[in-house]
Amino acid sequence: MAMMQFHAKIVELAPIYDWSAVLELALQYHTHIGYTSVLQKEPWETIPDSWISKFCNPASVRMVKRLKPSNEKPSNSPKTANNNSVLCINYNSETGCNWKGCKCKHACSTCGSTSHKATACTAKG
Ligand SMILES: [Zn+2]
Ligand SMILES: [Zn+2]
Repeated sequence: MAMMQFHAKIVELAPIYDWSAVLELALQYHTHIGYTSVLQKEPWETIPDSWISKFCNPASVRMVKRLKPSNEKPSNSPKTANNNSVLCINYNSETGCNWKGCKCKHACSTCGSTSHKATACTAKG
């Protein structure tokens, strides 16, 4: 029943590698065994690694459909509430707030003035 092991190996490889590559391995190895050692059972029990790697290599690995990267959220959308009751963190950052939908209070986090942001504040220190 050595052939069953051969078959089992093919079945084992099938989900990992491209079916055409596995099938090619099966057919070519089958032919190879047929010509060289038809009366021996050993060749059927283990397919030499050299044979497997000839057909089943990284190039023939099935293309795994990867999950799409999750849509990046706008980096300047606030994690806190978006209303006038909270100071805009982005406004007070070096880059400033360029989020059009921002409803946060654009005021200096140091002194509360709306004429400048914290990084330009003269009141601190
Ligand atoms: Zn803002
Ligand atoms: Zn200020």
